[in-house]
Amino acid sequence: MAGHTAVPLVDLVGQYAYLKPEIEKVVCRVLESCQAIMGPEVAALENEVAAYCHTKFAVGCSSGSDAILLAVLALNAQPDDEIIMPPFTFFATAGSVVRAGLKPVFVDIDPVSFNIDPYKIEEKITPRTRAIMPVHLFGQCAEMNPIRELAKKHHLVIIEDAAQSIGAEYHGVRTGQLGDMSCLSFYPSKNLGTYGDAGMTVTDNPTYAAKMKALRVHGSEIKYYHKYLGWNARLDALHAAILRVKLQYLDRWTQGRQEAAARYDRLIQAKNLDRYLTRPRALPERRHVWNQYVIRVEETKRDPLVAHLKENQIGCEIYYPLCLHEQECLKFLGNRKGDYPIAEQATREVLALPMFPEITEQQQDRVTDVLAQFFQK
Ligand SMILES: *Cc1c(COP(=O)(O)O)cnc(C)c1O
Repeated sequence: MAGHTAVPLVDLVGQYAYLKPEIEKVVCRVLESCQAIMGPEVAALENEVAAYCHTKFAVGCSSGSDAILLAVLALNAQPDDEIIMPPFTFFATAGSVVRAGLKPVFVDIDPVSFNIDPYKIEEKITPRTRAIMPVHLFGQCAEMNPIRELAKKHHLVIIEDAAQSIGAEYHGVRTGQLGDMSCLSFYPSKNLGTYGDAGMTVTDNPTYAAKMKALRVHGSEIKYYHKYLGWNARLDALHAAILRVKLQYLDRWTQGRQEAAARYDRLIQAKNLDRYLTRPRALPERRHVWNQYVIRVEETKRDPLVAHLKENQIGCEIYYPLCLHEQECLKFLGNRKGDYPIAEQATREVLALPMFPEITEQQQDRVTDVLAQFFQK
C-alpha cells in the first residue's frame, strides 16, 4: 500500500543503528586481543548475567538449545528417565531432552498464559520422573508455586526454559531463582540477543555448574583428560563482548516492550477489536518481559488475516503451528493427536504481532488499523 510504511515483526536493524559505536568498540577490543574462544569476556559476561538473574553461577555456551542439553546432562539421569514439559513451545525444549537420552512427558497448557498447567502435572509423575521443565513462554512466567510444591514433594529438579524470559519475575522472584537450573538463549530475536548463536545456564548449585563447565569443553576439567562425554559447546568471546554491551540496555528494553504491550491493549480496545480477537494477558504477580505479543483469532480467520497482514507489509508469525507431540521426529514417544487439546487449539489460533523495544505508537497504530480493516470490512 503506497504511503504506508512496513512494520517488521522485529527490528534488529534499527536497534543496531544506535548501538553501532559501542558494539564496534568491543568487537575491535576482542579482535585485537586475539582471544576468540572463551577467555575474560566470557567470564565477565557470566558474572554479569548471574548477578542479573540473582544466581551464584552461570555457564555460557553455544546456544539456548545447548544450555538445555547441558542442564539435562548435569542431572546424572538414567537413560529413559522422564522430564515433564508443555507440548506448546519451541522444538528445542524437547529436542535437547531427547538428545540427552531422556524422555519428554507432556502436560497440557493453561489457555490464558499458554504455559504448562500446573494442576495436570501430578498425574504424569512416575518413578522415572527426574525433572519438571516449565517454559516461560512469550516472556511470562509459568505458575511456579504449585510446580515448586510438586517438585519438593516428589524430589524433582526444576529446569526452567527461560529462553524467552530473561528478567521475568513471579511473585518478585526472577527466572533463574525459580528453578534449580535456568536456560537462557541469546539468539538474535530474544530479549537479550547477539548477532549469532549463544546461550547460558544459570544455577545456584555448584555441582551442576562444575559439570556443565566440563561438558561444554568435551567433558574435561583438566585439559586432555576427559571425565565426561562432552562436546564443544563453548561461547565465543565476540558474542560475550556484544552481550555485555546489550545487557546494560536490557531493563530499558523490557520497559519499552511493556509500554508497547500496554499500547496494543489500548489501541485494540479503542478500535473495538476485542470482539474479534483475544489479547494476551499479563497475569498478576508477574513481571512480563513480552518477548512476543501473541493474540488469538478464530481458527478459520487466521490464514486470511495472515495474508492480509503480509499484503500490508505487517510482520507476523505463528508461534507455534504444531505441538511437539505431533512433530514427526517425536511420534515415537507414543502421543496422539487429541492428547493435549488446549495446546492443539492454541496452535490453530495464535498470531504474534510486531513487538520490539523501539516500536513506535505510529507503527502500532498502523498494525491495529490493518487489523481493523480486516475484521470490519
Ligand atoms: C529460542 C528457544 C530455545 C533455543 O534457543 P537457541 O539459542 O535458538 O538454541 C529453547 N527454548 C525456547 C522456548 C526458545 O524460545
